[in-house]
Amino acid sequence: RRKKRLDISQYVEGILQQDRVRLSQAITLVESTLEEDRSLARQLIERLLPYTGKAVRIGITGVPGVGKSTFIEALGQYIAQQGKKLAVLAVDPSSQRSRGSIMGDKTRMELLAANQNAYIRPSPAGTSLGGVASRTRETMLLCEAAGFEVIFIETVGVGQSETVVHGMVDFFLLLMLAGAGDELQGIKKGIMEMADVVAITKADGDNQQKAAVAKAEYQSAFHLFPPAANGWFPKVVTCSALHNEGIEHIWSLTNEYIEHTQQNKYFDERRKEQNLRWMYETIRQTLEEQFFHHKEVIKKLPQVAQQISEGTLPPLTGAQLLLDLAKK
Ligand code: GDP
Repeated sequence: RRKKRLDISQYVEGILQQDRVRLSQAITLVESTLEEDRSLARQLIERLLPYTGKAVRIGITGVPGVGKSTFIEALGQYIAQQGKKLAVLAVDPSSQRSRGSIMGDKTRMELLAANQNAYIRPSPAGTSLGGVASRTRETMLLCEAAGFEVIFIETVGVGQSETVVHGMVDFFLLLMLAGAGDELQGIKKGIMEMADVVAITKADGDNQQKAAVAKAEYQSAFHLFPPAANGWFPKVVTCSALHNEGIEHIWSLTNEYIEHTQQNKYFDERRKEQNLRWMYETIRQTLEEQFFHHKEVIKKLPQVAQQISEGTLPPLTGAQLLLDLAKK
């Protein structure tokens, strides 16, 4: 744990001077759930807000094993080589369970981690997806204030986390594996609809043919979707992070998308909407945290839960009982 709290201006000055140690300390502060830290974190974010917003925010998702780390390392190095400063953040709600992270440990992306232009921060631990996601959003803002120009937010395409991440980025990249046979089975339509670019990974060796087939299938699937509000037709590409193929193309599509949405004003509109959503999420989440941290609730909850599972207390009555406790 941190030994001593710094004062706000120490964080602010350090971050604006792009001091990585200060940045890391500030992120630790933001990730803390202690009430004093939360209030300091809020002040910090507010002080830094005028220096945020200039980065390109990119969400990257895909099931475990699709090749996310390998891909992020390849694309990240490409971006860093162009002299751009890149921060890689993650939303992995599973990381709250001890060592149960779906996205693995710190040995991922070793080359990128050693790159001076890159900064990698693993997913914060948390008790809820909302909590984990809002810490990541705040971390993103700190990174922007610290001069990072590109932010990756990585998440695992197995639950609700990609929806939450979609709500805080400008561009959403979906990584997909080419399987044998029916390509579109098992892919949630909702995730497909969020994608601005779909990249079929591991398009190398024996897999090349399959990847090409998958690409064609996804392309035709997109024709069945209603047109998106951003006026952009999703692109489907193949790539091999292992052989560094298709990586550059994905980066140029990303830039094309950003230019396109900046021109048609969708980019700014979306960020405004995301700010509103940020407020609502904060309210919801603060209420939830207050509730679950309430002393009386903590005391009573196990008993109520037990009674509900035994069938001796109706769920609504149990909920109301706890809600009333939390008001006191
Ligand atoms: P993650 O779980 O989505 O982060 O996936 P990883 O990046 O850890 O990759 C999972 C496995 O796929 C690893 O064994 C990688 O070496 C392999 N892999 C990743 N990218 C490629 C690629 O472009 N081509 C091939 N052939 N294998 C790859």
